[in-house]
Amino acid sequence: DRAVSLRQLTRRYGTGPGSVTALDGVSLDFHHGTFTAVMGPSGSGKSTLLQCAAGLDRPTSGSVTVAGTELTGLSETRLTLLRRRHIGFVFQTFNLLPSLTAEQNVGLPLRLAGRRPPSALVREVLERVGLGGRRRHRPSELSGGQQQRVALARALITRPQVLFGDEPTGALDSATSREVLVLLRDMVSAEGLTLVMVTHDPVAASYADRVVFLVDGRLTGEVLGASAQDIA
Ligand code: ADP
Ligand code: ADP
Repeated sequence: DRAVSLRQLTRRYGTGPGSVTALDGVSLDFHHGTFTAVMGPSGSGKSTLLQCAAGLDRPTSGSVTVAGTELTGLSETRLTLLRRRHIGFVFQTFNLLPSLTAEQNVGLPLRLAGRRPPSALVREVLERVGLGGRRRHRPSELSGGQQQRVALARALITRPQVLFGDEPTGALDSATSREVLVLLRDMVSAEGLTLVMVTHDPVAASYADRVVFLVDGRLTGEVLGASAQDIA
């Protein structure tokens, strides 16, 4: 029932005396249908952990297993296929294509996989994030919260097992941020999505079932369940 397993994950940038150890032997499991927040000071390795877990970066040593497949031995091609099938990613800056409408942005992962996005499916996913009425709008015509909802719909259209978020609410005001967090939490409980979210914000982290802490590339602790709310 593990969606993601990290074992002795180490990521070093550069070699020799100037090298930086961004992750230093991190072992961690993310179970199906759980919401984990990853916190820690700037430079503690949070982004690196997310990128390695999502198959966007390769660790120096250790292993990453997603949906039963070990990523470390995979070719770039197979890794890309596995990412497309099982992994979604949302970013602080939304990363929408400005010239495309909401529905075109949402359909993009299917187009990249060589499929025509079924309009009923695109509509359904946009409705799930509360944007059924904004299908033809471009990112510049949407608020920050609406843009992040489009990004979320785009990440979810392939029905990934795991969704990674790197400060997904970092660019949103606190009220909008809470709306997006409620939406995310509902998707975890209603659909068994596994959510791993990096955040600096204790209020955002309090929406998670579990909060893990990184310092200097090492896990220093975790807080579970209701007490996760205490960190806010
Ligand atoms: P966080 O997300 O917690 O701010 P990062 O994972 O971005 O931490 O970075 C961890 C450490 O690794 C930092 O010291 C950072 O400067 C370094 N680092 C991250 N990415 C690179 C890179 N591409 N090249 C060199 N150093 C990097
Ligand atoms: P975050 O906002 O998550 O802390 P950063 O600003 O640390 O992100 O990093 C943004 C991007 O720059 C990441 O892709 C990271 O790998 C890269 N990066 C971070 N630190 C360095 C560095 N010292 N040298 C090169 N690239 C870096």
